[in-house]
Amino acid sequence: MFKALVVEKDEDSGKTSAVVQEISEDQLPEADVTVAVEYSTVNYKDGLCIGPGGGLVRKYPHVPGIDFAGTVEASEDDRYKPGDKVVLTGWRVGEAHWGGYAQKARVKADWLVPLPEGLDARQAMAVGTAGFTAMLAVMALEDHGLEPGHGPVLVTGAAGGVGSVATAILANLGYEVAGVTGRPETGDYLKSLGASQIVPREDLNETTKRPLEGETWAGCVDAVGGEMLARVLGQMKYGCSVAAVGLAGGAALPATVIPFLLRGVNLLGIDSVMQPYDNRVRAWQRIASDLPMDKLEAMIQPATLEDLPGLGRDILKGQVKGRVVVDVN
Ligand code: NDP
Repeated sequence: MFKALVVEKDEDSGKTSAVVQEISEDQLPEADVTVAVEYSTVNYKDGLCIGPGGGLVRKYPHVPGIDFAGTVEASEDDRYKPGDKVVLTGWRVGEAHWGGYAQKARVKADWLVPLPEGLDARQAMAVGTAGFTAMLAVMALEDHGLEPGHGPVLVTGAAGGVGSVATAILANLGYEVAGVTGRPETGDYLKSLGASQIVPREDLNETTKRPLEGETWAGCVDAVGGEMLARVLGQMKYGCSVAAVGLAGGAALPATVIPFLLRGVNLLGIDSVMQPYDNRVRAWQRIASDLPMDKLEAMIQPATLEDLPGLGRDILKGQVKGRVVVDVN
């Protein structure tokens, strides 16, 4: 028997409840690799899946946790053997398939990535899906020509998970980073991660009738979407790119096409869930080399399985700072 956070649904009321329970290995879903989970984390999607589901969870009882890191315990796939250190993000694990909020998980070998040299399981989950996605966003901006010296790079939702890791990576790579936050009290924290400029959220979350404003940003990692993204598009320098990662401020995009047509601005979509294996390996290797571990350490808020129902509610309200690391043992 081992511990797991199990979400159950009352069919009559439709209400869900999440409680830590003892479950047995034969309750795990069928798949080819069993992992002794060491750490997981809390993402926005986890907040939805710990709570009423947001349409992501179809079958109950359910074990959430969209990412985890740990050690292979048993494997029917030649690529992994007992003792291998692995990390998992994406593939609808924790949504359609039982996830990482348990001391054991059983998943497809295709969904795993070997933990890169230089990162342990705790650090990997301090990075988590949020940090992995931040790295994908930085890689996409670089692939579209971003280089240090082109000008400031904007990070929206800077004090959140994606934003914190993006800020630390970009600053470490030599970029001038401007962080947008709605929490002025996080200014010192963002500066400690390497932001040189703090932009108050209210400066950017109102629509303007002007499709173009002053050319300000050489790149942007956007975790917010909505009106903020629309506004940022009109402030990009000529030929520069925005990596659209999230929708913390809304899924709508009340923008015009003028920044694309008159300034050659690029809007790059970033998906972490279905990334091909080679790109996942590349991103994890870049994280190990380009994210300073002391800055990662400063983002960590430790937690246990028992803390998850409260943390799930907090992340849905945008109240989590940095990266929660859940020690499932
Ligand atoms: P967090 O909740 O940790 O961070 C989001 C941040 O956005 C908050 O901390 C806050 O930052 C800011 N924010 C929250 N609400 C608003 C609002 N109404 N208006 C403006 N800013 C707001 O979440 P994550 O960093 O983990 O994820 C960020 C987004 O990225 C989410 O939408 C998530 O679903 C998405 N995501 C997408 C992935 C992909 O594959 N594309 C993968 C991972 C995440 P501050 O307090 O500094 O203002």
